[in-house]
Amino acid sequence: MQTTINPQQILKKHFGYENFRPLQEEIIEGVLQQKDTLVLMPTGGGKSVCFQVPALLLSHLTLVVSPLIALMKDQVDALKANGIAAAFLNSSMDEADQYVLLDEVKNGNITLLYVSPEKLLALLPYFSTQIQISLIAIDEAHCISAWGHDFRPEYTKLKQLKTMWPHVPIIALTATADKITRKDIVQQLALQDPAIFIASFDRPNISLQVRFGVKKKKRMEEIAAFIHARANESGIIYCLSRKATEEMASDLSDFGIMADYYHAGMSAEERTKIQEDFIRDKTKIICATIAFGMGIDKSNVRFVIHNSLPKNMEGYYQEIGRAGRDGLPSDTLLYYSLGDVIMLRNFIEDSGQKELNLEKLNRMQQYAESPICRRKILLAYFGETLEAACQNCDVCKEPRKAMDGTLLAQKALSALARTNQNVGVNVLIDILRGSHRKEIIENNFDRIKTFGAGKDLSFADWQQYIMQMLNLGLVEMAYDDNYTLKITNFGNDILYGKRKIDLVQAEEKKEFVPKNPWGVKINTYVEQDQEGLLFEQLRASRRVLAEKENVPAYIIFSDATLKEIVSKKPQNLAEFIHINGMGEHKVKKYGNTLLKEIKSWQKDFGPKQPRQSTYKETLSLLEQGFSIEDIALTRQFHESTIYSHLAHLYATKELNDIGKYFSAQDLELVRKARLETGETKQLAPIFAHLQEAVPHHVIRLCLSYLDREEKDKAD
Ligand code: ADP
Ligand code: ZN
Repeated sequence: MQTTINPQQILKKHFGYENFRPLQEEIIEGVLQQKDTLVLMPTGGGKSVCFQVPALLLSHLTLVVSPLIALMKDQVDALKANGIAAAFLNSSMDEADQYVLLDEVKNGNITLLYVSPEKLLALLPYFSTQIQISLIAIDEAHCISAWGHDFRPEYTKLKQLKTMWPHVPIIALTATADKITRKDIVQQLALQDPAIFIASFDRPNISLQVRFGVKKKKRMEEIAAFIHARANESGIIYCLSRKATEEMASDLSDFGIMADYYHAGMSAEERTKIQEDFIRDKTKIICATIAFGMGIDKSNVRFVIHNSLPKNMEGYYQEIGRAGRDGLPSDTLLYYSLGDVIMLRNFIEDSGQKELNLEKLNRMQQYAESPICRRKILLAYFGETLEAACQNCDVCKEPRKAMDGTLLAQKALSALARTNQNVGVNVLIDILRGSHRKEIIENNFDRIKTFGAGKDLSFADWQQYIMQMLNLGLVEMAYDDNYTLKITNFGNDILYGKRKIDLVQAEEKKEFVPKNPWGVKINTYVEQDQEGLLFEQLRASRRVLAEKENVPAYIIFSDATLKEIVSKKPQNLAEFIHINGMGEHKVKKYGNTLLKEIKSWQKDFGPKQPRQSTYKETLSLLEQGFSIEDIALTRQFHESTIYSHLAHLYATKELNDIGKYFSAQDLELVRKARLETGETKQLAPIFAHLQEAVPHHVIRLCLSYLDREEKDKAD
């Protein structure tokens, strides 16, 4: 009888996951029915599984085309760590190795082959004649489109694949594709009536927070506190300029925080090294320009900070998306100030596509200013509607309060009018707050009627209100006239009392509480509680394993997996099977190492929980098919102890077949010795009687067997 194994079983067996994520199963079903498929899923959404699971079910090779050579090795390492025959082929390999690998492929010893587009195109004649192919996956499929970012000309030649293999299904995957790019992918790859799957781009595990107008010194204190609250965690801090990345790294070191910096002005080797160290957890924190991150597949980035406002929502989404790919709670923090907006506008003025880029910046600003759930705004930008407020952004946690802002706005507008609309935000605030600094006095601004009329509010509050007035269109900023503010018609209506205006109450500048900004535990392991110690112990042991195998730690286990181990504390190998992310291969390979850590921790801290009897535990493992050797290892007992458990279990009739643990000949020897010595319990006399020819544990098993035989006869 042929047993068929289904996708879900493959997911469990090889990847250790209990359930598919949304859409994965439908995608896989389609692919298995040879349907061409286009998958749009956010970073971390789980695209890989969509072709890796089919690859394990199909008879021939699955080709995976990927432009990111740097990533291939990691992906292949991750597959190998799950016991899957995967390999990669790219120009970084020497020729001899390539031939060896191609032979392996030809002999059917490889399930998944990752290949760069150049390499595949070069080898097309060989592949088409020598290799049988079941599935072609095109990763980062947006690279095919000249419309999107990251266009790779060689991708357009992948058209040939469909001509070459008209009957082999193609699955194209990407995390970024607008409608035009989508169409392009379908056309260029000549996908036949493709199934198109668009997953939600929501990443609910990523918290969103925006901080407005925090001055540099305070901001550095906040960032340092934020990082200290996440000790040992990995994070990225995005800065606007090369210089800013270096400054940030150096400022952090004043707080005792080690961070590297990364920008395009560094040599390729330097950059590779820094990236590598980050991936391998050797460097925890990187201060970088947006050049950093593309092609980083690190699952345990726990936070992303933007030190200034990003240029647009696309970039922002992609950058924060580098956090929390493993699905664990991760935090993002965006700082922005009026200065950022001015600087970005300057950049844009000098760039091509001015109109478009200004519009994109406006949308970014609206997000940062949002009085409603930020996630709603973010998703709306990508054409998705979020029904309920997310409860994981700062606005949801601390809803903004609206108030009648008419009087306040009138004060500002009137002051502005009296300067002949010839001042920028900062001077206007100084006038409102009655500052006596030189510039104010020299310009006679202290004689303005509204001088000091806004004393009761802080500088930062005024900044927020004026920002709102800008966004609401009461004033405009003259970017071409020294960033002075001009009153609009709408502003005049307010000034002259024809209309009223609601403003959102300025955020109270209360002390930032980085450990617990949401009122929930964001990092259970910060406080070195006892479970935290276990987590650290496991993490250390993961690092040792990773170094031994020369792979990044997250390839051995994700943080999510370690966390689950900490909460469930498996007591034997069988229980490890239920941990997400532990497939059979990993249980076999690493289970015992982890068990040792858990047991040693439990000795020190563990509750003395009521446990099932030691015999039962052995029996349960035995029933799950573990060998005596494995059971001994798992339970940290000597094998002879496990045999004594078998003897006991046989005597109590909980176990029926122990015949397989000794030979018929041994049994007869013991039977005879038992009669001759009259000894039915003690091992030593029998051992001596048999001149030490039969090991103790065998004698014990045989005695148990004979004992039960006798009792059964008597019954
Ligand atoms: P993408 O390629 O879409 O960025 P990946 O395929 O790298 O995402 O998956 C992101 C993370 O989610 C990986 O750590 C992966 O192992 C994990 N993952 C994927 N599918 C599942 C699932 N069904 N259950 C649990 N974790 C999953
Ligand atoms: Zn929200």
